Amino acid sequence: MKSSNFSVNNGHLIINGLDTVELARKYGSPLYIICEDTIRERFREFRSAFSGVKSDIYYAMKANGNLAILKILGSEGAGVDVFSAGELYMALLTGINREKILFNGNSKTDRELKFAISSGVTVSVDSIDELNSLSKLAAELDARASLAFRVNPDISPETHPKISTGIRTSKFGIPHDDVLKVYGMAKELDNIDIKGIHCHIGSQILKLDVFGEAMVKMMDLVELIRDEYDLELEFLDIGGGLGIPYHEDDPAPTPEDLADVILPIFKDKSAKTGISPRLILEPGRYIVADSGVLLCRVNTVKRAHKTFVGTDAGFNLLARPMIYNAYHRILVANRMDQPPAETYTIVGPICESGDILGEDRNLPRIEKGDLLAILDTGAYGFSMSSQYNQRPRCAEVLVSGGHDELIREEEAVGDLIAGQTIPDRLL
Ligand SMILES: *Cc1c(COP(=O)(O)O)cnc(C)c1O
Repeated sequence: MKSSNFSVNNGHLIINGLDTVELARKYGSPLYIICEDTIRERFREFRSAFSGVKSDIYYAMKANGNLAILKILGSEGAGVDVFSAGELYMALLTGINREKILFNGNSKTDRELKFAISSGVTVSVDSIDELNSLSKLAAELDARASLAFRVNPDISPETHPKISTGIRTSKFGIPHDDVLKVYGMAKELDNIDIKGIHCHIGSQILKLDVFGEAMVKMMDLVELIRDEYDLELEFLDIGGGLGIPYHEDDPAPTPEDLADVILPIFKDKSAKTGISPRLILEPGRYIVADSGVLLCRVNTVKRAHKTFVGTDAGFNLLARPMIYNAYHRILVANRMDQPPAETYTIVGPICESGDILGEDRNLPRIEKGDLLAILDTGAYGFSMSSQYNQRPRCAEVLVSGGHDELIREEEAVGDLIAGQTIPDRLL
């Protein structure tokens, strides 16, 4: 979160003018807090960085799919990158312009493809099988299907292997060498409208030169496709992936920096060849990560091999540390005026040894009942949450202009059993 949205009063962490200790009292804990101003600011940074060319920003809603967030971004003019029928349903529900929705995914069902075709959204096709299904289903529906191909550009960003998506061995995309061929195949299908080309090289990328590499490869493909098939692609979608500084000393590249890397290549190639597709970017994390804070309450402080601080949130609510070994800064929200006093390992309540939110952190002296704030949790936080160990998910609160509004109720135990039935013979 922009430091301007954080302050301290009475030793309490204040977000957007609101006291986190009060918010936790009012809504309970754990609690996700989302700051609307931060989301708008981040989106506007992206939009203005690319305003010099025909461009659109499609928010990758898997980062955080709350309806209120979709509404906020829709009002800023965002399109949306969706990855499932459920995400498409929610994007349409919130009134996102269907011309600005791209349906992604490497393994879509026929049902999902039909939904995409009948909604009139463009599908990012990931395989030849999918191309054939799309054409067949469009024929059945007596409709036309719009597509782009997801390209695997064979690029290795320096990021966690589990979020590197454009290397040769990744499951995503059409292999670079087959791209020309699949456009040729699509061109032969008479119910298919070829709209664009797409790639997404990975996530949490802080060294931006790989985006330049991707842009070179993608613009070369756009040119090749035009020359080979006399086909002008309407858009080039270069994906998302811009990282954020989870560590205080991480580099903090901005959308402006990203534009400085890719726009000269884009413009130069356009000028030389006369191709000028609309440029699409699909940021997820950058738009919402630092808008979010997860508040959690300390249940126990245990002095053992290490000093463990047990909280009421674990990897059921924030999976990134467990899945990616991710680092999130942690603050003691009710002791902001106190100096670091001890080294703590912050753990959740889940029955797994890996349920660690932060290791060996120097923090003010912590006691049972204290409130912790885990920062930069707006992206891939709630959206990756689960009910593991039969824990209902927590509430989400939107803060804006000094006001707080509930945007998702805390789940109840009833939600844990929803949809389950016990066969009669077991009753
Ligand atoms: C996840 C994803 C994004 C967003 O990635 P971030 O790193 O959150 O910006 C964009 N496009 C596609 C296809 C994705 O799968």
